[in-house]
Amino acid sequence: MTVCSGCIQDAPHKEMYTVSRFMHKGKPDSRNMYTTMYCAKCVKKDKENYHEIVGKPTPPKKPKAKTTKKKTDVKKK
Ligand SMILES: [Zn+2]
Repeated sequence: MTVCSGCIQDAPHKEMYTVSRFMHKGKPDSRNMYTTMYCAKCVKKDKENYHEIVGKPTPPKKPKAKTTKKKTDVKKK
């Protein structure tokens, strides 16, 4: 679990965005930046609080399609 820098809530790391921010908010300097983690909500909500998104969450792997047969043929006793 990773803590979001925006809402200070734990979220699964794989769902977090990596964003870059300036070390000094009042003095934006591209050589003086750091990255931090933001959840999807804060990435949308707190756009003013970070510079740009540098990493997006890795999309979850699709589970293998299970070949489950429909149980429509099961007759009631
Ligand atoms: Zn958040």
